[in-house]
Amino acid sequence: MSYLREVIAKTEEKNPAQPEFIQAVEEVMLSLEPTVERHIEYVASGIYERIVEPDRQIIFRVPWVDDSGKVQVNRGFRVQFNNAIGPYKGGIRFHPSVNLGIIKFLGFEQVFKNSLTTLPMGGGKGGSDFDPKGKSNNEVMRFCQAFMRELYRHIGPETDVPAGDIGVGGREIGYLYGYYKLIRNEHTGVLTGKGLDYGGILIRPEATGYGAVYFAAEMLATRNESLAGKTAAVSGSGNVAQYLTEKVIQMGGKNISLSDSSGTIIDPEGINLEKLNYLMDLKNNRRGRIKEYAEKYPTSQYFGGKSVWEVIKEQSIKVDIAFPSATQNEITEDQALALVNNGCLCVSEGANMPSTPKGIEVFIDNNVLFGPGKAANAGGVSVSGLEMNQNSMKLLWGKEEVDNRLQMIMKNIHAECQCAAEAYGFERCNYICGSNIAGFLRVARAMLAYGII
Ligand code: NDP
Repeated sequence: MSYLREVIAKTEEKNPAQPEFIQAVEEVMLSLEPTVERHIEYVASGIYERIVEPDRQIIFRVPWVDDSGKVQVNRGFRVQFNNAIGPYKGGIRFHPSVNLGIIKFLGFEQVFKNSLTTLPMGGGKGGSDFDPKGKSNNEVMRFCQAFMRELYRHIGPETDVPAGDIGVGGREIGYLYGYYKLIRNEHTGVLTGKGLDYGGILIRPEATGYGAVYFAAEMLATRNESLAGKTAAVSGSGNVAQYLTEKVIQMGGKNISLSDSSGTIIDPEGINLEKLNYLMDLKNNRRGRIKEYAEKYPTSQYFGGKSVWEVIKEQSIKVDIAFPSATQNEITEDQALALVNNGCLCVSEGANMPSTPKGIEVFIDNNVLFGPGKAANAGGVSVSGLEMNQNSMKLLWGKEEVDNRLQMIMKNIHAECQCAAEAYGFERCNYICGSNIAGFLRVARAMLAYGII
């Protein structure tokens, strides 16, 4: 058994019933094999064993009172995974599926993603099994306040800077930050994704979706292709999916799909800006379901209980580019095969780990350009990093300036993935190995410098 396979086996033994975390560790470790031979010093100082063990895992009770006066109890998490290159940084997820293993997989991925941005940010992630769906604004506010009542003692602008993720958007960040400000009596850059009126940065809501499209454009350019005239399939209908759709339109492409956890809509004519505005109002203000899109626009069709990828498979829909942007493990092996058979030439992951390992294998075996989440969706945390700079310098950059920086960062991440892949014996367009190696090396060098801590 190779050294890194032993590390994986030990991690599995120590973390039973955390399949998503083990999946993420396995994916990273297996692509780091060539680093073991070249950096024997990392083996000697246990870097690989240490990097899979979080610095700290915090689990706490979150009691709150619902609108009927009943006491509800949720569980809160913050996993501070690795701060070798900067303060812990990573989002907060509110979703009923949240458990320690999911937060650990997200935190682990975040370590490498943040390193890839070249900004000084370590990796962390947090969340709760609280479900904001169907809750009143007051209930969401009371929950956020209860969550921050414990979280505040573990975070700080130089310690740990959370942001949004699934179920945590502008509304939730406002409640979380407002409460932090109150109990700490300080106005500081402790959360990113803040509103523009209280320390937020322009383009942060757009950044993850825009970045995933910029990354796709970089990948396509390696084959002399562009987004213009291409048909895209996007899953999800939240923050990432919305701005991904906007950027696809701006770059001359057409997005034909959106989804939520209840079903999928397919709109063969494409989701134009007017339809996108309707969707944003539906999801961000009225907090409705994607089904209503199909009721409003008869050009589209609703498929209840099915994911975008299942519908594409069943209906044999032609798609050039896939942007999975809902959740982890949404593209299975047979769905990946159906995408390939329907002409898909590029996958850029807006979500974290949305393709299953078998799905990824299909993409790689069929020469599909594959941008893994930790590279393709790094635009969000990059602009969060810029928000931290902006807060500490007490200034506000213009929209164009932030967008230009975002484009430059995505270009650099793409180039860095290619260089690392090539330098360690992989094909230049192996973005999985490239992103893992490039992300790992920066963190490993810093860990080595600190000695055994
Ligand atoms: P949102 O909460 O804004 O949207 C999530 C969307 O995905 C919703 O449409 C939701 O439907 C759907 N969804 C969530 N869970 C499931 C599920 N289990 N099955 C089917 N559909 C589901 O989240 P974001 O857009 O912010 O995040 C989407 C993905 O992007 C996540 O993987 C996140 O980790 C990743 N990401 C987000 C970043 C950001 O800046 N926001 C940065 C980097 C990555 P419903 O409303 O019905 O639950």
